[in-house]
Amino acid sequence: MTRKWNRRRFLKATAGGIVGAFTMGPAGVAAGRKKAPNLVFVFPDQMRGQALGFMKEDPVITPNLDRFASEGLVLTNAVSNYPVCSPFRAMFMTGKFPHSNGVLSNCNSNSAPYDCELRQSDRCWSDVLKDRGYSLGYIGKWHLDSPYKPYVPCENNRGKMAWNEWCPPKRRHGFDFWHAYGTYDYHLTPMYWTTDSTRETPIKIKQWGPEHEADLAGEYIRNTGGKYRDPDKPFALVVSMNPPHTPYHLVPQKYVDMYEGKSVEDLVNRANVDLSANSPGGKIARKSIKNYFAMVTGVDDQFGRILNTLKVEGLEEDTIVVFTSDHGNCIGSHNHATKNVHYEESMRVPFIIRWPGRIRPRHDDLLMSTPDIYPTLLDLMGHGADVPRSVQGVSRAPLFLTGKGRRPRSQLYMWAPVGQPAWGRRGVRTKRYTFVISKIPDKAVETTLHDNVKDRYQLRNIATDKPEVVAELTKELEKWLRKNDDPWLKS
Ligand code: CA
Repeated sequence: MTRKWNRRRFLKATAGGIVGAFTMGPAGVAAGRKKAPNLVFVFPDQMRGQALGFMKEDPVITPNLDRFASEGLVLTNAVSNYPVCSPFRAMFMTGKFPHSNGVLSNCNSNSAPYDCELRQSDRCWSDVLKDRGYSLGYIGKWHLDSPYKPYVPCENNRGKMAWNEWCPPKRRHGFDFWHAYGTYDYHLTPMYWTTDSTRETPIKIKQWGPEHEADLAGEYIRNTGGKYRDPDKPFALVVSMNPPHTPYHLVPQKYVDMYEGKSVEDLVNRANVDLSANSPGGKIARKSIKNYFAMVTGVDDQFGRILNTLKVEGLEEDTIVVFTSDHGNCIGSHNHATKNVHYEESMRVPFIIRWPGRIRPRHDDLLMSTPDIYPTLLDLMGHGADVPRSVQGVSRAPLFLTGKGRRPRSQLYMWAPVGQPAWGRRGVRTKRYTFVISKIPDKAVETTLHDNVKDRYQLRNIATDKPEVVAELTKELEKWLRKNDDPWLKS
């Protein structure tokens, strides 16, 4: 079947707004399926790709993810291309890189003068599903709106920077059920705006955020009282948990107790964390690694509850479930506290997708990039022809379904200072190397090259030893930057 034939037939089949006419897709991927699949997309905040028990890297307890991974496709090389909150979230929602979607920094009062927020005019994957007859729910952290004065009165809007902002219904990109907030890191007393809340009337909950959100996800999936979604429509639900983000101590004790008797030396097994007394990274790891892992275990526990609800409701077969994160966490590696750097702990994220009977359980080292998520999901769900031409990500649906398909050579890495889109760090990550060039006004250009095979903890910069690799990867980087129309090339 040709793509043209598929597209014509699809348009004809859906002309009357018929949902679930799954006869199309670039690879005929959804052909023959009668029922429109649901989507449950769960992504905690700051959960690194190493923090999965079955990967045998961090000594972390994740029984639900271990089981889920055995039932799904695990991408062992998935990254967050700009590993910090809002840029990831905007790439996920729009399928475009930051220079194309305008979210070049975290959304807060510092970046607000540069219109750093998700554009209402962008056509997100959720807008497409809305138009194709889906019910859509969003639970948890959104972080895609610029705060404006007078700032919402809440704890994280009272410091030097304001962060939290309400998302008005017109900016929700099709999500008709809403229980979310911009940013708010008080995990034991989280706040939310509900579907009908005004900006002035958020609610606060006395419950650990992920637990509350898993409760609510359960209600949404069960559609308790018929009040969460249209029972006659397929649904897409996003659950965006804030833990394992800072502050790490805001975690139920029962999860900390699961690591009882473990010393910091037992828990930190990465050679790039210097645990000596005066090392900045060592101090961070000593203070927080146990609570970070406890939070990961708590997220795992709550994710398990969501999976169980799908099972009890008989929706496992008809629901695509994705588990990933917006970026990772150094928590002491390379003396770095958190994220927004090129290191593996910051860039690499979990990515597990399960669709029983359709996606064969396995591991794959595909170099998945964040903007690929949008076209891949829509393609899997039978709406590949609806992906706007402006989307820069590439559908990996054929590869997910058959193991065969286009594989990229590299992934882009980037960071730009607030209001300076032509500056900052740009790089590429391949299966072998991580390569980064840093350009900051009035500073010397810095080049970094790590051999991630010979030096898995990225302890050595070999840029001066390997000029031929630097030259090759510079060309590869320039390809990405030209594609993204990135002004960094000329700075
Ligand atoms: Ca984040």
